[in-house]
Amino acid sequence: MTVLWAERALTSEGWARDVRLEIGEDGRIAGLATGAAPEGQRLGVLLPAPANSHSHAFQRAMAGLTETRGDDPTDSFWTWRQLMYRFLDRITPDQVQAIAALVQMEMLEAGFATNVEFHYLHHRPDGTPYDRLSEMADRIAAAQAVSGIGLTLLPVLYQYGGCDRRALGPGQRRFGNDPDRFARLVEETGETLRHLPADARLGVAPHSLRAVAPDAIRAAADLVPGGPVHMHLAEQQAEVDEVEAAWGARPVTWALSELELDPRWCLIHCTQMTPDETMGLARTGAVAGLCPITEASLGDGIFDGVRWMEADGCISVGSDSNILISLHEELRLLDTSQRLRDHTRAALARPGISTGRRLFESVARGGAQAAGRGTGMIETGAWADLLALDTSHVDLAGIEGDTILDTFVFAGRDAMVADVWSAGRHMVHEGQHMHRVTITRAYAEAVADLRAQV
Ligand code: ZN
Repeated sequence: MTVLWAERALTSEGWARDVRLEIGEDGRIAGLATGAAPEGQRLGVLLPAPANSHSHAFQRAMAGLTETRGDDPTDSFWTWRQLMYRFLDRITPDQVQAIAALVQMEMLEAGFATNVEFHYLHHRPDGTPYDRLSEMADRIAAAQAVSGIGLTLLPVLYQYGGCDRRALGPGQRRFGNDPDRFARLVEETGETLRHLPADARLGVAPHSLRAVAPDAIRAAADLVPGGPVHMHLAEQQAEVDEVEAAWGARPVTWALSELELDPRWCLIHCTQMTPDETMGLARTGAVAGLCPITEASLGDGIFDGVRWMEADGCISVGSDSNILISLHEELRLLDTSQRLRDHTRAALARPGISTGRRLFESVARGGAQAAGRGTGMIETGAWADLLALDTSHVDLAGIEGDTILDTFVFAGRDAMVADVWSAGRHMVHEGQHMHRVTITRAYAEAVADLRAQV
């Protein structure tokens, strides 16, 4: 049993003072009391640590390499994707494991308790499977053993190179599975996860409407009953055009009529929606998995957050390409993009609930839903996914209530994150992951050649 004591905590009942929190041996919050005398580890502000709901770990090693203009005068998402495919010609399982450990460490240091990994890199460079089908998934799980993060692993089904069911291109060979082999992959991945701590979860991810046939999307969702189902949806205008031409409806309109969307689902991006689609999708209870830093980096567009939140839609945030892993920056950019588009301020605030608090609580709860993880609030019985802010930081000194979260989101520094627990595992101490030196060294050695040759 671990005992924490915080001057202030954001619990499921709202802000509380002098909070004593017990973490049980099973990693869950075993007891919670307010107005308690100081005891155990003393903390400033204690918050629920959200899940990072969308990541492709290996892309972390491409950070900073994709900002030059290609031959194409209108450099775009699609030329970025070509560079990613060159990277994929060479990357090995050892490299994937080292990169994933770094990504998970950086997520924890940013304040995320969980890595929801949308994992589509399965096979050898020539497209043939490794001896064990789940070799690459096993490496993501092995990284967890070092980082201590909560892991929700989503094997990805990727069948085709486009809506016309063309074969996968050379850069996509490592992703491909037919539904039968994918079912075996999911089963093997589930076996691997049984060796991880009890908070690890298995889900599935049909990649997108471009890459998976409709019947296979439905079949994939049935492979993990009750588990999370994630899919990229409506990210780019070219994707909207392709789906509309092939299937006669825009992606979100098609998904609303053809899939049984419910709270198990997390639709990633949704930056290309009409107002009616936004309202319709919000009403399903599915999570909109937003990745504001990556969506800005790739020029995707702006999610209609104001309309979505007015409809009480669920949101989460993820670092997707992992070009920059920062919880407060994802939230700041999500809100800032609304301001720039609409020429407004604080449109997501509510009477008595500030913008920072509304964003933070929404992604904590929505991230838990997207991860299929019993967490997202500080309450007895939830996984002890906790984030402590350093109240000795000059910008946090002497402030109270929602202003704490507004300061973290809008004037935030990574240095404000002091301690992070994932299912009770205390991995970040005074801003640093406990294995930072070894994880960083292993990463640097693993990717030196890979980055130099791109
Ligand atoms: Zn993605």
